[in-house]
Amino acid sequence: MKLVRTPMIAWILLLFAAMTIGGMAIFLLQQQQASLLRMAGEARRVKLETEAATINLTVTETRESLAGELATLSDPGLLNKLENWRLSNPLIRNVFLWAPGSKLIFPNPSQPASSEEQDFCNRYASLFSGQHPWALPRKESDLPSDQFQARRELTQLAKTVPTAESSSSRPPATSITTAAGGWLPWFWEDSLHLLLWMQTADGRRFGIELEMAALLSRLVTILPPPAHDDQSLALLDDRGNIVHQSGRIDPSEPAAQVMTVPVGDSLPHWQLGLYSNAADPQGKTTPYLLVGGLLTLTLVCTILLGGSLLLWQARQGLRDARRKTGFVANVSHELKTPLTSIRMYVEMLEESPQIGEERRMRYLKTIGDEARRLTRLVNNLLDFSRLEQGRKSYRLAQTDLHQLVERVATSQLPRLQTLGLSLQLNLDRDEVLIDTDSDAVEQVLLNLIDNAIKYAAEGKIVKVSMQSKGDQVEITVSDQGPGIPAAQREKVFEMFHRIDNALTSHQQGCGLGLSIARQLLRDLGGNLRYTPGQGLGSSFIISLPLTAQPPERRP
Ligand code: ADP
Repeated sequence: MKLVRTPMIAWILLLFAAMTIGGMAIFLLQQQQASLLRMAGEARRVKLETEAATINLTVTETRESLAGELATLSDPGLLNKLENWRLSNPLIRNVFLWAPGSKLIFPNPSQPASSEEQDFCNRYASLFSGQHPWALPRKESDLPSDQFQARRELTQLAKTVPTAESSSSRPPATSITTAAGGWLPWFWEDSLHLLLWMQTADGRRFGIELEMAALLSRLVTILPPPAHDDQSLALLDDRGNIVHQSGRIDPSEPAAQVMTVPVGDSLPHWQLGLYSNAADPQGKTTPYLLVGGLLTLTLVCTILLGGSLLLWQARQGLRDARRKTGFVANVSHELKTPLTSIRMYVEMLEESPQIGEERRMRYLKTIGDEARRLTRLVNNLLDFSRLEQGRKSYRLAQTDLHQLVERVATSQLPRLQTLGLSLQLNLDRDEVLIDTDSDAVEQVLLNLIDNAIKYAAEGKIVKVSMQSKGDQVEITVSDQGPGIPAAQREKVFEMFHRIDNALTSHQQGCGLGLSIARQLLRDLGGNLRYTPGQGLGSSFIISLPLTAQPPERRP
């Protein structure tokens, strides 16, 4: 009992260890995946912020460049210069001139030249009428941050060779900082408009309104392609509408917004967004956990499989050990019983020399029977050992099976009759000639009849029949005893296996007969199998090939 439990406990410990390792591995994988996701998200945010800063810088540069040019305009003919500038520069949508006292000189609100001028006047009515303050002149705090400045310097450096236009006609972008003026983000009907203005010495104010579409067309060129095919970048206006996108956003499958960052103060409330069409918008980290999980599962399964194999081996070893112990006990008992009776009868003959002839003959016959039983047992053991080692040799000779079966069966008649059993012989042909080892077949037949006598004497009838079936001949030994339970029908052919019941325990034997018989027949190209009898009883069927086959050699 203790021996059975030890491998079980070892296996439970192994299971516990494997589960712990598996659990810890999954936990660590989850942690690792979460950290990877965090890092990937952080990297995406930094990249997006960099792109947003580039857009912010581009807008600021455009604005400052325009502001620089605006600062160079002056009287006389300021209005004409403004109008000409508007016509020549697509970035300018409208120009204006305003005098103190909340008076818009150009465009004339009472006589606008076009609907565009009319809209412009309406749009900025509250500003020009003095209800809304103008943007204050630029202060130090409005100046770009260090990072912003560094980025601008890098951009400037990239443009190493100044073009003729940039060096001659355009004033330096910094000139705006010295003039009185400013820029004004203006929200009208949920849309952003940008206004740039300057103040003359006499207090008049003039300026331009930026053309947002033209500004956007500049931004389009600087928005980089997305890092992955299933990702896209999008510039969102203050209403959250996509004004420009880089990368594919499938209209049929709306892309998931991964994150957004504000563009900056040059485009207030505008945002740069990252979109993903992938099933897993967080990134392609799921396979990491999947592959890791599969590896862990494989590891746990391997450990459990190895453990189960060890347990199976241990149990097998235990069963073999038990069988061998049982075998030694059985064999000792088998040897002891005939030896005891031989010794007893010999002593009786020695001690009583005057014993009658008839009793002397009976004693001698018993001694002979017991000696033959001993021989059979020893032969069985020798066969077993030879078969185990693959050393069993066969002598093939033409044999008349009909004759052999009849001879062996009738030789057992006296024994059967003594126990009140009758023999029924049913052999369908007169002569069945096959090349086989007649001793081996006889041994098998004797063993089956012996078993019928030992385990099925209560059935009173033993039937031996023979018939040809195709290229085989079958010899069946049937009895009407208790039969063999379904679960044991194959096991009885295993070495040392005996059915654990009262009937078997009262009979001598060591569980070798059937396993040896089956092996002998298989070596001769045949087989031995069991079928339950009609109602009660057992049938053992010997099959042999009609045409000779060389005996099989087992390793
Ligand atoms: P042994 O007879 O030495 O025990 P066998 O290999 O000949 O060994 O038989 C194995 C077991 O099969 C027997 O112990 C017995 O329990 C069972 N057995 C064999 N033949 C019969 C039969 N005709 N009827 C019932 N049980 C049988």
